[in-house]
Order: sequence, then C-alpha cells, then structure tokens
Amino acid sequence: MICKKISFSGHALRRMFEREISETEIRTAIETGLIIMECVICKNGTTKKGKVTVTLERKGSIIAIKEVPADVCQNCGEYYLSEEMTKEVLKRANDAVKKGVEFEVIKMTKVA
Ligand SMILES: [Zn+2]
Repeated sequence: MICKKISFSGHALRRMFEREISETEIRTAIETGLIIMECVICKNGTTKKGKVTVTLERKGSIIAIKEVPADVCQNCGEYYLSEEMTKEVLKRANDAVKKGVEFEVIKMTKVA
C-alpha cells in the first residue's frame, strides 16, 4: 500500500509523541504492512506477531483453533486477528458447529 497522504488523529499524534515514533516510521509501517499496535484492552502494551489458540463456543459446541497467526499483546496476552484470519476462523468454527460437534480442535494450517 502506497499512501500519498496520511492523516493522523489527535490520539495517534499524542501516542506517537509519547512513544517517540516518527511520522516516517508510521508511513513505513503502513506501506510495508508492519503493525505497530497498541493494545486496546489493557492500554499498556504493544503487540507482536505470534500464534494463538482461538476458542469459540456456541450452543454447546466448543471449537478450539490452534496456531492462529495473530498480533499478541506483550502485556496482557490479548490477541488481534487480521480481517482475513477472522474470516477463516469464523468459517472453520461455523463448519464445525454445522457438523454438530461438541468439541473440536482444529489446527490452522496454510496460514497467511
Ligand atoms: Zn494488552
């Protein structure tokens, strides 16, 4: 993604200043797809690429999906999935629920 012009919110600006991140670093991050993210749950940590187990539950079916690539908060452990990965996770979980399983462990292979 090449950005001609980026707008920074007041929040972004304050955080950039606080964490000593320049607008050039932000631009590079956006263009290369690198994510510098602040955890919205604990507001105290930043995320790092990792793998998590996503556990979902609906109507008595429990689905655990292992080795899901995510951005993981280094402070509280909360994870963030990309749009594509969220779609994939929901699809697999829905398939499992349709099969009527009570408990299923799925390993996320062929990852983006
Ligand atoms: Zn956190």
